[in-house]
This record gives sequence, C-alpha cells and structure tokens, in this order.
Amino acid sequence: MEKEKSLQKAIALDQADPLAGFRQRFYIPENTIYVDGNSLGLLSKDAERSLHRVLNEWKTLGIKGWLDAERPWFHFAEEIGEMAAGLVGAEKNELIFTGTTTVNIHSLISTFYKPAGKRTKILADELNFPSDIYALEGQIRMRGLDPASELLLVKSVDGKTLDEEAIINMMTDEIALVWLPSVLFASGQLLDIERLTKEARQRDIPIGFDCSHSAGAIPHHFSQWGVDFATFCSYKYLNGGPGCSAFLYINKKHFDKTPGTPGWFGYVKEKQFDMLLDFEHAQSAGGWQISSPGILGSSTMEGSLRIINDAGIENIREKSLKLTSFFLELLQPLLDEKSYALSVATPKEPMRRGGHIALSHPTEALRITEALKANGIVPDFRAPDIIRIAPVALYNSFEEVWKVANILKEIMERKEYEKFGNQRKAIS
Ligand SMILES: *Cc1c(COP(=O)(O)O)cnc(C)c1O
Repeated sequence: MEKEKSLQKAIALDQADPLAGFRQRFYIPENTIYVDGNSLGLLSKDAERSLHRVLNEWKTLGIKGWLDAERPWFHFAEEIGEMAAGLVGAEKNELIFTGTTTVNIHSLISTFYKPAGKRTKILADELNFPSDIYALEGQIRMRGLDPASELLLVKSVDGKTLDEEAIINMMTDEIALVWLPSVLFASGQLLDIERLTKEARQRDIPIGFDCSHSAGAIPHHFSQWGVDFATFCSYKYLNGGPGCSAFLYINKKHFDKTPGTPGWFGYVKEKQFDMLLDFEHAQSAGGWQISSPGILGSSTMEGSLRIINDAGIENIREKSLKLTSFFLELLQPLLDEKSYALSVATPKEPMRRGGHIALSHPTEALRITEALKANGIVPDFRAPDIIRIAPVALYNSFEEVWKVANILKEIMERKEYEKFGNQRKAIS
C-alpha cells in the first residue's frame, strides 16, 4: 500500500515538473536508470549537433574555420565562457573554457600561491579529490618547499563531511592560499562558499574553489561573493562528454596578475599572431589559456550549455533538491531498519547538499552497487563505503528515483548483493 502511494506521488511530481520535457533532448542508455551524471553526464542531441557541425566545418573550411566557422574557433573559448558565465555568477571576461581541471589547478595555484615571510602554507581539506591534492603538493615542491609542512589539510570528524568553522579556524596568518571543493565528491556535502570566501578575504588570503561537482547543478555567485579564482570540469553535470575542456574563473581584480603557466593562447588576441617573444597576456580570464583549444572534443559544450540555459540553473537546482529530497524520504524506512546498516553520508539540510546522495554501508557498498547495476541502474561506488546516486534534473524523473529506492529495498531485503564478488573493476 505504502509502495503504491509513493508511486502515485512520484507520478504526480513528474506531471507537475516544468523540466520534464528536457529528458527528450538526451540519449538515455537503453533499459537503464542512469543516476551517474555526477561522474559522466549524458549526451544530448543538442551537443551531438554542435559536434557534427564543427566536424563538418573542419571538413569544408580547413584552417579557415578559425575565423569563418559559425562560431569562429579562434573565439570559441571566450564565447563558451560567456555562455556559462550565468551559471557561476561570473562577470564579463571572468570565465574561460580552457584546459582540464587539474591543469587549471596548476595554472591557478602557480599564479596565486606567493609564499612569503610567515605566510607560506596552503590550506586545503582531507576530503578533496585526490588530483587536487597531488597538484597542490606539486606546486609546493616546485617552490622548493615541503608539502609535509606547507600543505595543511582540514580534518573531517566523521570521515564524510567538513565543518566550515574548523576551516575558518585554520585560516591563520601562516596561510598563503586556500583551495577547497564546492561539493565534496564522495559525500556530496555543499560547502558555504560565500561564508568561506568572506572569512578568507577578511584575512587577505586568496581563496579558490574546485566546482567540478556543483557546476551545472547548483548556481554560484563568484563575483558577488568575491571568490578569487576557480575551475570546474564540464563532463559531470555540464554534460560536455568525456575529457571535454574545463572552465577557469579569474576575478577581474586579478586580471593584471601574471599567469603562472603562460602560453601563446593567453596572448592579447589582436596581437597573438604578431608572434612576439615578450609575453603580454589578455586582461581577462582568457589570459590564462595555454594552448590551442581542443575545438573538436569541446564543441559539444555549445549545445549542452544551450539546454542548461534554456532550463535555467535556478530551476535545475530546485528540481535537483526535490529529487534528492524525495529519494531521502523513500530511503527512510531502509535507514530505520538497523539490520541493513545503511546510512546517508550527505547532509540532510537541502542547503548543504550537492546534486547526489551518498549512501554508506560499512562492508557491502561495493556489492550493493554491483547488485544495483545488475538491476539496470547505473550508480557508482567510491571506496571504501560509498554508493553515489545522482538523480539529474535535466534527464532523470521522480519515477526513476522511486524505482531506484524500491530496487534497493529488495536488494537489502533479499541480501541480493551476496551473489556478487568483492572485486572492484578499474572504474566502478
Ligand atoms: C572530477 C573532478 C576532477 C577531475 O580532474 P580532471 O583533471 O578533469 O581529470 C578534479 N577535481 C574534482 C574536485 C573533481 O570533482
């Protein structure tokens, strides 16, 4: 009975959903409930069209495509940056479509990390994506310093979430730079970017964010908040496709800083082809470009952003929270059944949640993930104990969320996961 009632609720939520029609603009893998858009977003027809157009421009225009393509390749990175600016609250010229996340982190840290006097340390956190930490350590070593003493990682009390107060308490006069994620990739906690930025600014510490797990799912207001710099990938909630270029944000007050990893695509555009040896970077985020943009592999972004802008980032966030709230509501009976040992690592408060829900099981998370997959669901597993479920506003429905919750219930009731091995594939 309860099951029927919740299904009716799911159907009613879908009927009332103003974004329901967007699903038709995507390719959904057959017989699949895809709830892994926080890892790799799906292909849209719009993105496919822009890819085909660019491929055809190369075919018919050759090198002339740099200036004569429908969206001239020479200005593509700037134009896509402009198209995405509203998603993160970037002002004119503050956002560029370039590089990849980790490369951009190197570029940003090499620009903003100025260890001097007592201020030599970088403040980060122990729950960030490993690549971010590798990059920070590399940057510290490059200055001839030792990451063991110069990289301070804020500890997590529960191993899943961070306390903003603890981060702020570590913003001492020894800190030269702060680098944090917007949403933690495992637990899905959303940090209070506005508050953290304000506290860092008050102490004159430059602060930057990796928004790979929030861009396209959650609106940000970088400029208004005074964020100094940021980067985010485009293949998660932005649906750009595997390895698509990332975005790089520089607050306009820093346009005159010298890029730490300069390259010829950061040159003042009008003079780039003068091929002068004196580097003069564009007074915009574009000044932080390094190489020729990967036009083909990144052409998808144009179509993808059109969809996101059509839907509106505020509406996307509103639906995303409804989806995750509905999921949490359906999960409650499973969480209450203590013998299942399931818990939710994501904060309950909507304003502290990103776009996915992280379920946690002390011993069986991997095998439960395998059992979900055997039932046509695509979630993912993050070692050691997290199952991530991301119902994406643009292409997932409330009914799908209902199905995931009910299939999970059956898996737990019948201990279906016991059929699976504990051997993890290279990508799970
Ligand atoms: C996805 C993600 C990355 C990925 O880095 P790439 O350089 O794009 O492979 C880095 N950091 C965070 C926080 C991420 O979520």
